[in-house]
Amino acid sequence: MILDEVTMPEYERGVRGSTTVIIPFGSLEEHGEHLPLCTDTLQVVEVCRRVAERTGVHLAPAVAYGVCRSTRNHPGTVGLGTATLRAIAVDLVRDFHRHGMRSFVLISGHAGKTHVLTLVDAGEQLLDELPDIRISVISEYNEIQEAGRALIEAADDSHAGEIETSRVLFLRPELVKGTSPAEWPSFPEARLVRDKRRHWRGGVWGDPAHASAEKGRRLTEIAVDRVIELIRELEDYQESPADAPR
Ligand SMILES: [Zn+2]
Repeated sequence: MILDEVTMPEYERGVRGSTTVIIPFGSLEEHGEHLPLCTDTLQVVEVCRRVAERTGVHLAPAVAYGVCRSTRNHPGTVGLGTATLRAIAVDLVRDFHRHGMRSFVLISGHAGKTHVLTLVDAGEQLLDELPDIRISVISEYNEIQEAGRALIEAADDSHAGEIETSRVLFLRPELVKGTSPAEWPSFPEARLVRDKRRHWRGGVWGDPAHASAEKGRRLTEIAVDRVIELIRELEDYQESPADAPR
């Protein structure tokens, strides 16, 4: 079920069929001169929609803002603090749990480390609080980087580079406005920087020049297959007696 499109009776029937819900987390974040601010949200929602169609698990509406640290000085990046993101994730899982869901997949299209760790933190809190749930936290970008390695030409490609440009070219080509120069920024080792843009002029990490819609199609398929695998693993997981809630 696409949860924001069904009626109350359809929801009630749907929960009898599956109690697994995917909650996508995106961001409103600069992606260079050529990709839209919704890039992370678009990618994760399109993967989740395909996963829901193929598996019958339920898809919740996306949270379209995230924790964006390194790009927060770039125009267009508007985000949440960690306490807010954590509270949103906890509140959504608690409420879906109250309405019958038991397996939760928090999946992020934004790969920021602090952002993903905040979702992990929320998940750990929920494991303590709700003894009958299973929960996964997935960074779909990290899964793609790993599983799609053979397709990617640019070294150390991460933000608005070959991978993300290919994926948006496949999903919404009309939103891609040309390209941006390749860039591999460097931040100081330990010192936190106030003016982050000074260290990261263009807001790209990698090389969009290698991107193509065909690569985007294949990367999207890789992400869908991998997320389905991780959901199956979650649904089959049995707590060992030592882990089981007492
Ligand atoms: Zn991104």
